[in-house]
Amino acid sequence: MAWDAIRKPDETRRASNLPDYDAARRRFSWAEARRMLDGLPDGRGLNIAHEAVDRHAAGPRGGKVALRWLGRAGTQRDYTYADLSRLTSRFAGALARLGVQPGDVVASLCARIPELYVAALGTMKRGAVFSPLFSAFGPEPIHTRLEKAQARVLVTTAPLYRRKVSEIRARLPQLEHVLVVPGDAADVPAGTHNLHHLLDAADDRFVIPATAAESLALLHFTSGTTGQPKGAMHVHEAVVAHHVTTRTALDLRPDDRFWCTADPGWVTGTSYGIIGPLTVGATGIVDEADFDAERWYRILQQERVTVWYTAPTAIRMLMKAGVDLARRFPAPDLRFLASVGEPLNPEAVAWGVEAFGLPFHDNWWQTETGGIMIANFASMDVRPGSMGRPLPGVEIAVVRRTGDDTVDVVTGPDEVGELAIVPGWPSMFRGYLHDEARYRRSFAGGYYLTGDLIRVDGDGYCWFVGRDNDVIKSSGHLIGPFEVESALMEHPAVAEAAVIGKPDPMAYETVKAFVALKPGHDASEALRLELIGFARTRLGAAVAPKDIDFLPGLPKTRSGKIMRRLLKARELGLPEGDLSTLEPEPAAVGTPLPGGAS
Ligand code: ATP
Ligand code: MG
Repeated sequence: MAWDAIRKPDETRRASNLPDYDAARRRFSWAEARRMLDGLPDGRGLNIAHEAVDRHAAGPRGGKVALRWLGRAGTQRDYTYADLSRLTSRFAGALARLGVQPGDVVASLCARIPELYVAALGTMKRGAVFSPLFSAFGPEPIHTRLEKAQARVLVTTAPLYRRKVSEIRARLPQLEHVLVVPGDAADVPAGTHNLHHLLDAADDRFVIPATAAESLALLHFTSGTTGQPKGAMHVHEAVVAHHVTTRTALDLRPDDRFWCTADPGWVTGTSYGIIGPLTVGATGIVDEADFDAERWYRILQQERVTVWYTAPTAIRMLMKAGVDLARRFPAPDLRFLASVGEPLNPEAVAWGVEAFGLPFHDNWWQTETGGIMIANFASMDVRPGSMGRPLPGVEIAVVRRTGDDTVDVVTGPDEVGELAIVPGWPSMFRGYLHDEARYRRSFAGGYYLTGDLIRVDGDGYCWFVGRDNDVIKSSGHLIGPFEVESALMEHPAVAEAAVIGKPDPMAYETVKAFVALKPGHDASEALRLELIGFARTRLGAAVAPKDIDFLPGLPKTRSGKIMRRLLKARELGLPEGDLSTLEPEPAAVGTPLPGGAS
């Protein structure tokens, strides 16, 4: 079903950071974008922490709240830019005293506590490489990542250390220092340092060492949706993209109160939960707690959030809780809603209008791209179901691989192919950790190939079709799971849907759907047939699912992405593969979400 475009009033267009998309595309250059940032004093290079914190701390924004932290139990703490500058300097100084050198890896395993944010920025101040791990990982996934990253330092909390790290420590010979956030003064496990003592003993001032824009800053592991998580390496120059995309794709300004719900364990939570909004000089909200519909509405209202960046899974969970709940917490300050991480069903875009009077703006990127590449901008009409248009400075193409290093560029509008990006944007990953061959394989014909299939319409709007491995070939049709899932989502009983291709001797593959129902609806044969009929009317018999199973919830990664490969493996009785990032099951809709995104 085609959805009507959501029109933007002229005043919204004019007031946005990117009022004229076409003109901005023509004029844009990354070299000029870099001039929006300061660079280290005396031409000593480019450092993310300086751009995010120190340059504001030294100026009129020093006393402005940079981060407002909301504790699980109701505590609230504000950190000004000057506070953050001092704390991150102390952290950097503490690392230096421990002998940590630029280029060493400092990992973290923390819930969204203030120390995590201090560690991220303080590590980069030292010139070391920050690698955030999601705190709900178990010991083995933690071990794999720390070992792979060759982390010399780990920042964690005393309880997490005892529960998850102490048992693997002996198998991590390169891990020299563990800095723990203690529960209380006595709560420091043997063999670890009390992080608070280290910070207390350090100096408020720290001179950031000369940092080449090309030096490593961040090591992010991918979500593991399609297989074993990969370590994507990012450099300080990425901050140019973080800054520009935060301004343009998220329309953020210094007077905004911004809430990115993603955990820094995933790239969204670092690029946009830490770096981007700080470089703009805005105030970021950090909520320590997990997803809870009422809590989230209360935060939007009480914190007077103006720009909100979240994920489709969270939006679907809010939808499931009902629009009435949203309306009980009017949030008149909200002006821009954005989503990333998974395809955003048109239904969800429209629900934003119903619940908040604003559409969700979908945008697309991945761990490898380091920042937003395709977006629905504030000044653009939203075509529900579309990811929007490429950022100024980002050149995309739709391609088909024809050989190891060759591609055909698809030229017709609406033709499906792989999304490819011309290298050269600053936040492009500079490698997969210990996997140079794979890194090289992801480039061909002068493009970086993303592994996602899209089509681009005649006006340049991009439409997600599916991941390369998820696309279904049935009776000569190429079927994108997203289209089928979105059609099922339009049925009032459906809370979530995932679609896979099942091998079939006649059709090559047939479409099978897995559906989780909204409260008040029970699985039954009648409903199954009704849903199949419903999908047929919308999609036609060739594309609609032949079969539907009901599940209490769909298996997801901890960052909230549906794991279609797992549904498929189970359906076909095949090995389940790497499950290190699987959210514990049953992942019924309505269970806590890690606040994850991309
Ligand atoms: P892995 O690479 O380990 O399988 P992953 O690809 O899920 O995991 P991320 O880098 O966190 O790891 O996710 C990026 C992917 O998420 C994109 O390549 C795309 O498939 C999907 N994605 C992100 N944003 C969108 C969006 N707006 N619409 C559709 N898909 C999206
Ligand atoms: Mg990926």
